Amino acid sequence: EVRTRFAPSPTGYMHIGNLRTALYEYLIAKSQGGKFILRIEDTDQERLVEGATDVIYNTLRMTGLHHDEGPDIGGDYGPYVQSERMGMYMDYAKELVEKGQAYYCFCTKERLESLKESNAEGAAFAKYDRHCLHLSPEEVQAKLDAGVPYVIRQKMPDSGTTTFTDVVYGEITVDNAELDDQILMKADGFPTYNFANVVDDHLMCITHVVRGSEYLSSTPKYNLLYEAFGWEPPVYVHLPAVMRDAHHKLSKRHGDKSFEDLINEGYLVDAIVNYIALLGWSPGDTREIFTLKELEECFDISGLSKSPSIFDIKKLTWMNGEYMKNMDFEKFYALAEPKLTEALGGTGLDLRKIAELLQKRLETLNDIPGLVGFFKELPEYGTELYTHKKMKTNDEIALSSLKAALPVLEGLADWNTQSIHDALMALVGELGIKNGQLLWPVRTALSGEPTSPGGAMELADILGREESLRRIRVGIE
Ligand code: GLU
Repeated sequence: EVRTRFAPSPTGYMHIGNLRTALYEYLIAKSQGGKFILRIEDTDQERLVEGATDVIYNTLRMTGLHHDEGPDIGGDYGPYVQSERMGMYMDYAKELVEKGQAYYCFCTKERLESLKESNAEGAAFAKYDRHCLHLSPEEVQAKLDAGVPYVIRQKMPDSGTTTFTDVVYGEITVDNAELDDQILMKADGFPTYNFANVVDDHLMCITHVVRGSEYLSSTPKYNLLYEAFGWEPPVYVHLPAVMRDAHHKLSKRHGDKSFEDLINEGYLVDAIVNYIALLGWSPGDTREIFTLKELEECFDISGLSKSPSIFDIKKLTWMNGEYMKNMDFEKFYALAEPKLTEALGGTGLDLRKIAELLQKRLETLNDIPGLVGFFKELPEYGTELYTHKKMKTNDEIALSSLKAALPVLEGLADWNTQSIHDALMALVGELGIKNGQLLWPVRTALSGEPTSPGGAMELADILGREESLRRIRVGIE
C-alpha cells in the first residue's frame, strides 16, 4: 500500500511550497488508493509558534487534503507529533552503535571549534575527524560511567560511493568520503532531524517521501541509515523550489504570500489548489482547470518536472476569475455576500442582482468593494467621462441624451430592466442616434465611473427609480 506523509513544522503560516508538497503527497497516495498521513514536526522548540498547528489543520481542511492518519484523528502508527516520540530514538541509535554503524562521541564544543578553525580554507563546515571512532569499548564505557556528555554519530563508509534514484532528479551518486559522520543523537538526548525523520518514516511505513530539493544532499546519509538498519528505503520524490522569479525562491520573509495571505486577498481555495498543482507537474496535455477529484484521478508521478517553476500571481488571478465565472451562482453568492454586505449593507439594494452582474467580471473576491462602491454613493466625476470614442459620444451629446432620457424615465409606469430597456431603445429610435450615444451617458450618470458592472438598464433597475432619476439630474447639472 502506498503511504505518503506531510511532515510540516508548525511555523505559523503555510508556505506555498509546503502546500504544494502536501498536495503532491496527497495525490500520490490517492491516485494509487493509498494513505496520506500527517506528522507534525515540532521538535525545533525555538521555532514554535502559538496556534501554528491549527494553521496546518485548517489548511488541510480548507483545501480538502484530508489525511487518513494524524495527531487529531489517530491511526495505527502514532504518535503523529514528533515531540511525543522523543523516547523512541535512543534505542534505535544504540542499535546502530551495536551494529558498528554509529559511535559515541565525547568531543567537547571547544575541540570541535578548534577543528573548524584548523580547517585549511577556514570554511564554516569541517568534517568531524573521527577522533572518538577510535576509542576502545573500555574507554567508551568508562566515559559513559563517569557521566561525560556525549552525542551519537553515524559512521559513514570510508570509501566507495552511495547511489540512490530520485523520481524527479534521477540517479544521484556521491563519494562516501565526502560525507560527514553526522550527529544522530544530541547531547541533550534528543535526536537530530536527520535521524528522527528516517526512524519516523520507517516506523510509519512511509513508501514515498516527498520533500523539497534542499533535502537532496542529505538523502545519501538517509539512505545509508536505512541500509545500516537493514530497512527498505522509500521512493524519493524531491521537488524543485517554487520561485518568485528566475533567481529567487519564494520566501515569506521577503514578502511572498502564504496560503492564508492569498485567501485574505480574495482568492478561492479551489483555484489556489488547481494553480499549485501545476507548479511543477503537468498532465501531459494542455488542460489547466482541474478539481481536486480530477487531479486525484489523473495525477501521475511521471508528470513531475525538475525545472523550477515560477509562482505567477497573474496566472493565478486569471485562474481565479475562471473559477468565479464558472461557479454555480448560489455558491458564488455565498462567497460574495459577506463582501457585498460589508460594502452595501443598510442600503436596501438587491445584493443578489448586484452579485449577478459581478460574477463574470471578477478576478478575486477582494475586487468587490472597489467595483460596487458607486451603488452606495455616486462618486464625484468629471464630464470627460462622457466622452467615449467607440460609443461615439462626448460631453455635448451626453447632455442632450440625458435631457431626453429624463422625462421618458420619469414617465415610466413600471421600473424594471425590461421596461427601462424598451423605453430607452424607443428613444434611441426616435432621436435617430446610436445606442451608445444614449446608453453610455445614462450608464455614466448612474455610476459616475468609467466602467461598471452592468449597463444602463441593469444599474437603473438596481438603483431604483428615485435614485436613478436623481443621478441623471446630477448628470444634467
Ligand atoms: N519538517 C520538515 C519541513 O517542514 C519536513 C521535511 C520533510 O518532508 O522531511 O521542512
